Amino acid sequence: MKASLRRYYEKRYGKLYKRADGLDWDVCVYCGEKRVVFDHVPPISKLEYIDVQKAIKNGMKFILYPSCVECNARLSSRMSIDLIDRMSYLADVYLNKADKMERWTQEEINEMGPNMKSIILKDQNRINEFSRKAEKILSRMDEIEGRPESD
Ligand SMILES: [Zn+2]
Repeated sequence: MKASLRRYYEKRYGKLYKRADGLDWDVCVYCGEKRVVFDHVPPISKLEYIDVQKAIKNGMKFILYPSCVECNARLSSRMSIDLIDRMSYLADVYLNKADKMERWTQEEINEMGPNMKSIILKDQNRINEFSRKAEKILSRMDEIEGRPESD
């Protein structure tokens, strides 16, 4: 979606979005890191494909979830409003990312020159980051699913 079109939709329909109830607004609802943005559901970028007036009449909900930048970006095309659905999708994304990256043993890393070594170490950090995020999301899902439904 073009930035100008996005701004138009944001201005026109931004007020429809309401904060989801019962959440800690300082942390990303998905991974628990600091909240930086609000995750719009349905994504603003998808509004051009929706008859918004009809959707409102049909009772469609427009929800804001507190989010970190990375979780928000990776959910940019996810339409489902269900928090558990969004979390399990996100956990899969992070786990797949970590799986696809090459893992090196310390021995292999030691054999590399300094430039290659720093590239590999950066990658290893990313793998750890992705795995850590996935784990956090999965444990937060357990917490939420163990909690009785609020209305
Ligand atoms: Zn996050």
